[in-house]
Amino acid sequence: MTKGQHYIDGQWVNGSTGKKREVLNPFDASVITTVVEGGREEAKSAIAAARRAFDHDGWPQTPASERARLLFRLADLIERDREELAELESLDTGKTVEESRWDMDDIAGIFRYFAGLADKDGGEVIASPNPNTTSNVVREPVGVCGQISPWNYPLLQASWKMAPALAAGCTIVMKPSEITPLTTLKVTELADEAGFPAGVINTVLGPGVEVGAEMAESHDVDLISFTGGIATGKTIMRAATGNVKKVALELGGKNPNIIFDDADFDLAVDYALNGVFFHAGQICSAGARVMVQDGIYDKFVEALRQRMEKIVVGSGFDEATQMGPLISAEHLSKVEEYIDIARKEGANLILGGKRPDDPKLADGYFYLPTLFTDCENDMRIVQEEVFGPVITVERFTTEEEAVKRANDTIYGLSAGFWTSDADRMERVSKALRFGTVWINDFNVYFVQAPWGGYKQSGLGRELGKIGLEEYTEVKHIYRNHATEPINWFGV
Ligand code: NAD
Repeated sequence: MTKGQHYIDGQWVNGSTGKKREVLNPFDASVITTVVEGGREEAKSAIAAARRAFDHDGWPQTPASERARLLFRLADLIERDREELAELESLDTGKTVEESRWDMDDIAGIFRYFAGLADKDGGEVIASPNPNTTSNVVREPVGVCGQISPWNYPLLQASWKMAPALAAGCTIVMKPSEITPLTTLKVTELADEAGFPAGVINTVLGPGVEVGAEMAESHDVDLISFTGGIATGKTIMRAATGNVKKVALELGGKNPNIIFDDADFDLAVDYALNGVFFHAGQICSAGARVMVQDGIYDKFVEALRQRMEKIVVGSGFDEATQMGPLISAEHLSKVEEYIDIARKEGANLILGGKRPDDPKLADGYFYLPTLFTDCENDMRIVQEEVFGPVITVERFTTEEEAVKRANDTIYGLSAGFWTSDADRMERVSKALRFGTVWINDFNVYFVQAPWGGYKQSGLGRELGKIGLEEYTEVKHIYRNHATEPINWFGV
């Protein structure tokens, strides 16, 4: 298990609130462990340590190759402890251990990718319009970064923030979700073992409205990076105005998965399921909004129903399990509320819409795979993020109609479509207003490609080269080699 304390300025500490929090297992609501719960004071101490490490202890001046060495070392340690980390993630989130293993492999890869990029940017010489001058554009670390992560992919989302920030030469204060802090704590221990200097990485536990709010408001924080819900993202954006800190937001999504008549039918059915039911639909890019063209609509719905009926729901530690529970009692109630809303709106419930009957699952936060058909664009179940194992199916006739419907959302994180027509691939991928568009695939992301949302799905990008650049300021350095007097003033 983890130490269950804050990690501030290279020390494991309890903080001053005297408060504790039980971390629950979503499988049966049992207590996994107890961790300390901090408040604004702990956030302030961590920010001060990160400030000192950035301003006085020389982390930004550390050769990039040395920062890369530490990041590579951390990746090796994550790989060494992969099984322990995967099991901890599954205990904390309920997802299957197999999914958590994929996450851990991704995470080691993310630290390696950004370690590899750390020493590659030598700046750029640009053509100066003036004679006898040189102009260089360089990137420098942005400073102290506050990083706030969600509960659905706790360590994966944290690593998307930690790895590029550290590679760029920033110092960080990380606040994991209070519901799922365990793997982030474990990786903080591994960072300590890897040898990162005191103050460079700080991890503070506690509620968003205190620890997170302090990080968003503090004038000593230069950038706040947040992944979570849209309402919290807006609060953070407002809080960040005090010192006009940089803001990076990865918010929710309601992601259309469009199936044209000419799609490979079996593949499209398979991926309609893959697009939603991993981690019980608690994925920001879940393709929960399936749109099917007239010609195959009935057949597609029936195929979906048949496959969904067979999804095995259970403990993430049971090898037969394909889908685990939802994260918390509170989230389960939210999903149940949406099911009621959908029924009242007139969506047609084909499957699920309830908790499993199995008494072995009664104490956990389980919900059955749920299918609604005859859904319309203006229904809340179609427009709002349910973040559960729920598919809504809409019918469309023309390509133009499909694109128009898909774009009619406040979100813009990801979209996918299925077709065998190359011209349509070109047209539709350009017309969709989303940060990622998948053609004949769904829910694929990798560290080399940028990730982020159009519209209210966020601000900025994580991953890829741009994911490193987000943690830098751009400086133009101009040198005049033969400065002439102008003699305009006082001559
Ligand atoms: P949330 O907004 O409730 O919480 C996220 C984090 O913000 C937590 O650490 C929480 O403690 C903190 N927080 C809460 N209030 C705060 C405040 N006032 N100030 C500062 N911090 C505060 O989100 P969640 O329920 O943990 O996560 C689910 C959401 O995350 C979904 O909407 C999902 O779509 C989104 N998400 C997006 C992506 C993406 O890449 N776009 C990835 C994963 C999850």
